[in-house]
Amino acid sequence: MKKVESFELDHDQVTAPYIRKAKVMSVNPEYPECVISKFDVRFAQPNQKFVPNDALHTLEHLFATLMRKYTEELIDISPMGCRTGFYFIFAGDQPVESVAGLVRKVLTEIVAFDGNIPGAARKECGNYLEHDLESAKIWAQRFLEVSETDLINIYRAK
Ligand SMILES: [Zn+2]
Repeated sequence: MKKVESFELDHDQVTAPYIRKAKVMSVNPEYPECVISKFDVRFAQPNQKFVPNDALHTLEHLFATLMRKYTEELIDISPMGCRTGFYFIFAGDQPVESVAGLVRKVLTEIVAFDGNIPGAARKECGNYLEHDLESAKIWAQRFLEVSETDLINIYRAK
């Protein structure tokens, strides 16, 4: 079996929160310049903490909506199964610095968010009762306590 790139990361060595460019891959062998890039946006220290599902779910809805105000290149945002963060996938080879800037900008909006959670009506969501905006804001605020420069240095001192 092929090794999965993220299983190669030593999860004991990293310091969350962080943003890591996980990979850039071609989506069509005939057009190698057509690439997508994938990032880990890690909120919680692996094997020490994890984001409660309701907060993770709300962060997912808010990221998916608010990020698209600033980029046309976002393909997908999905929560990690370990609940310590998200995968962000973009069209094109995006610099980690610009993704970090965008994530911080959107998290600032999430901290100040006071409307209805987008897409959280019964018809729009697969588990519409499991949301927690206040908890999502706390996780967003914790993430913002780390500077943009530190966020992209995944092996910084704990
Ligand atoms: Zn949902």
